[in-house]
Amino acid sequence: MIKINIIGQSRESLTNQFSELGLPAFRVQQVWNWLYHHGMRSFELMNNLSNEVRTKLAEQYVIERPMVSSAQASVDGTQKWLLRFDDGQEAETVHIPEVDRGTLCISSQVGCTLTCTFCHTGTQMLVRNLTAAEIVGQVMVARDIFGEWPTPFGNRHISNVVLMGMGEPLYNYENVATAIKILTDEKGLCLSRRKITLSTSGVVPMIENCGKELGISLAISLHATNDDLRNQLVPLNKKYPLKDLLEACRNYPNLSNARRITFEYVMLKGVNDSVADAKRLVQLIKGIPAKINLIPFNPWPNSPYECSTPQAISAFAEIVYRAGYASPVRTPRGRDILAACGQLKSESVRKRKTKICSEADEVAA
Ligand code: SAH
Ligand code: SF4
Repeated sequence: MIKINIIGQSRESLTNQFSELGLPAFRVQQVWNWLYHHGMRSFELMNNLSNEVRTKLAEQYVIERPMVSSAQASVDGTQKWLLRFDDGQEAETVHIPEVDRGTLCISSQVGCTLTCTFCHTGTQMLVRNLTAAEIVGQVMVARDIFGEWPTPFGNRHISNVVLMGMGEPLYNYENVATAIKILTDEKGLCLSRRKITLSTSGVVPMIENCGKELGISLAISLHATNDDLRNQLVPLNKKYPLKDLLEACRNYPNLSNARRITFEYVMLKGVNDSVADAKRLVQLIKGIPAKINLIPFNPWPNSPYECSTPQAISAFAEIVYRAGYASPVRTPRGRDILAACGQLKSESVRKRKTKICSEADEVAA
């Protein structure tokens, strides 16, 4: 009999499965506590369950995390792990330590179906969606590495989670939603909803759900202030143009000055970084409680863009700031290990390709 991974099963689904096994609902609570509060890796050690229950569970389920296939540490303290899943596919997870918090950047897909022209992940084929277990598993592996069990109350290495790794999370909504419910459940990994941020390139029909059902923070990869340019940079804009995207942002549930949308804006030299762009940007988002995150472009081999000059970035930031919006410039972290925004996976794909493909493929990669 093939055993099921008990990690990543929604509370409802597990309750139904347990009921079929003749186990009452409170057992789910107990098992979740072992799995997600204590990080337990074996049913054997769940000492408030009878022998009979432990055996039953071990017959049906396994407790499985992704495997760490390689680990790299940047000079700035950022760490990147290449994780391998059951079928041999891989995705990357990055930990970024800061003074007052630790942020884990997780992936939602292997690759991405979208083709944003400035993003290296976008040049790689989608292999598949990650399952809820694989999404939750990324956080659990990081907790294992930091020895962060049982879940501490304050001062965590992983206080914040951002879905800004590989993939478009709103194109894998169901699995992402199941995973987030486990991450934010008090009896799950107990992370604050506000400290989880989902970044989307603008899958408009799913944005409302994200707010209503999950209540997490939202980041929008905006990058341009008119449809012509955004069509080029983020081709999904042809399907969901700026007007619709901004409308969805205005309607995002529970927005306030304390709960703002983050607009991400990658700074591309001579493309979207003029004073006129900055002025259009503040007009565009008028009335939306927002902050603007300016991201210096992280180059990758043969990328068609260059990063804006520091002068252009500060002039842009100044205009946005004067209009009343926080405009932090995102310090690139982990560039030396290709862990910065938009650089993920590239190295691992390249390595694999080198192993299995011809030289021509290497050039194409
Ligand atoms: N697919 C989602 C989340 C992953 S990308 C999205 O697009 O929002 C996370 C962030 O990194 C996005 O804002 C994306 O636009 C940005 N990004 C992608 N490539 C980049 C690059 N080369 N340099 C800087 N930021 C980049
Ligand atoms: Fe996909 Fe986001 Fe990269 Fe666009 S920026 S290709 S949506 S991962």
